[in-house]
Amino acid sequence: MGDSAVHLLDLGSRQAPWVSEIETLSEQKLLACYQCGRCSAGCPMVNEMDLLPNQVIRLAQLGMALVLESQAAWVCASCLTCHARCPKGIDLPRVMEAIRILAVRAGGARLLAGDVSSRDLSQAPPMAVIGALRKAGG
Ligand code: SF4
Ligand code: SF4
Repeated sequence: MGDSAVHLLDLGSRQAPWVSEIETLSEQKLLACYQCGRCSAGCPMVNEMDLLPNQVIRLAQLGMALVLESQAAWVCASCLTCHARCPKGIDLPRVMEAIRILAVRAGGARLLAGDVSSRDLSQAPPMAVIGALRKAGG
């Protein structure tokens, strides 16, 4: 690979700060994704998402803040299927988690302990309540 190609792949100084934050929080290199689509092809939640998992990565690669407003990260079930299918070993669930963290930081927690109804508290498995608060509460 020539110097010019390396330079093209080094977006560090030009990318939006939140892109670096996603990479830091997730410990994933977004540019490692070459958009093969295997993650999206195996995702069980894809019909509920407004962006496909590979599109989440693509928009983040391009620094398009639309990805931070997407519902996809909230719909992601953290099932790890995409991670298992990715030929580049990208841990997409961690990218989704990083996007949720940034969204919560920007707009406050989406789910607070007080929002959980007494019925849910009494009937839902404690792990489900704790998991939901951890995922959506920031
Ligand atoms: S499977 Fe991996 S390399 Fe392929 S599009 Fe998804 S994240 Fe990118
Ligand atoms: S971890 Fe999320 S994005 Fe990946 S396959 Fe499961 S639901 Fe889809």
